[in-house]
Amino acid sequence: MRELNQEFTTKLTRWFRENQRDLPWRKDKEPYHVWVSEIMLQQTRVEAVREYYLRFMKELPTVSDLAAADEETLLKLWQGLGYYNRIRNMHKAAETVVGELCGEFPETFEGIRGLCGIGDYTAGAIGSICFDLRVPAVDGNVLRVMSRILEDGSDIKAAGTKKQIGSVLQELYPESNCGDFTQGLIELGALICVPNGQPKCDMCPVAEFCKAREHGTQMQYPVKSEKKPRKVVQKAVFVLRCVDEEGVERYAVRKRPKSGLLAGLYEFPNVDVERELTLDEAIAVAEDWDCVPMHLTRSSEFKHIFTHVEWDMKGYYLDVHEMPARFKWVTDEEMEAEVPLPSAFGYFL
Ligand code: SF4
Repeated sequence: MRELNQEFTTKLTRWFRENQRDLPWRKDKEPYHVWVSEIMLQQTRVEAVREYYLRFMKELPTVSDLAAADEETLLKLWQGLGYYNRIRNMHKAAETVVGELCGEFPETFEGIRGLCGIGDYTAGAIGSICFDLRVPAVDGNVLRVMSRILEDGSDIKAAGTKKQIGSVLQELYPESNCGDFTQGLIELGALICVPNGQPKCDMCPVAEFCKAREHGTQMQYPVKSEKKPRKVVQKAVFVLRCVDEEGVERYAVRKRPKSGLLAGLYEFPNVDVERELTLDEAIAVAEDWDCVPMHLTRSSEFKHIFTHVEWDMKGYYLDVHEMPARFKWVTDEEMEAEVPLPSAFGYFL
C-alpha cells in the first residue's frame, strides 16, 4: 500500500479539475459566493441548494446587500432550507465585514474563523478556495473518504477525529491551487466514495492509496457512534380560514418566539397535545382563540423530522367567522411572497 504523499494530492486535484460538477458557485473564487454556498450546503443537498443560491445572489448580490437586508427578507430567502440560525449568523457576519472591515472579507484563517457562524470547516473551505491557504476543510464527505483511505476506526462523531484527519491533510496540501485539493476531497466523497452503498473504487483516482479498498473493508468505515433517539412531540396544527368583507380568503399565521427552534419564523397556530384531538376538542381550541369556528373542512397528518426532535402533526382545516388580531391574516399571495413559513408547516398549504 502506498503512503500518502504529494502524488496523492496531484492525482486528486487533477481528477477534480477534469471531473468537477458545473455548479453556479464555482464560476469564480469570490469569497462572498463561496461563503454563501458553503453555508447553504451544510445539511442540504447540492441539487436543492442550486436554486436557492441563484435566487439569493439575484436578490443580494454583494455582502453589503446582505448586511443591509431585513430579517424577514432573509428568512423568506432561506425558507425551506432549514437551520435558520445559519442565515441569522451570516447576516451578523456581513454586518461585521461591512461595518468593521470596510467590506473586505478577511484573508487569514483566523480572520475568517472569527466571523459569526463560521467554523473550522467553512473557514478552511473559504481560506483554501479563495485565498489559496494551506488549510484543510473536513466535512462528513472528507471524514468518510479519509477514514477509508487510512482505515481509521476513530468515531467520526468524536471531537478529536476531525482534528486528527485535518492534521494528516494539512501535510498534503499543495503549494498552490489549494482550493482544488479541498474541493477534490469533497467531490470524491460526493461522487465516488459515496455515503450510501458501495463506493465506486474502480473509478477512484486515489485507489492505489486506499487501505480499505486493499483489504475490502470499505463498508466498515467510517465508524459512527449511535445517535440518541429523537424526542417525539405531537402537535395539533390549525389552518384557520376566514373570508374577509371583500370576499377574500385569509389564513391565520403567527410569528414564533425569538429564540429556540424555528425562531422568528411564521407558523400556523398550533398546540402540543398528548393524543389526537377529537373534533370537539379541536373546535374548542379555536374558540379559545376567539375564532368562532363554523366547520371542519378536512384534516391531514404529517411528520417532520428535525435533528433532535420529531413533530407528529395533525392538521385541522377550519372555516371561521372572526379574524382575531392575535393572528396575522394573510392571503395566498401574501403567504407566498412575504411570509417565511418553514417546511414543517408548508405541508399544510
Ligand atoms: S478506493 Fe474506494 S473506498 Fe478508497 S477512497 Fe477510493 S472510492 Fe473510497
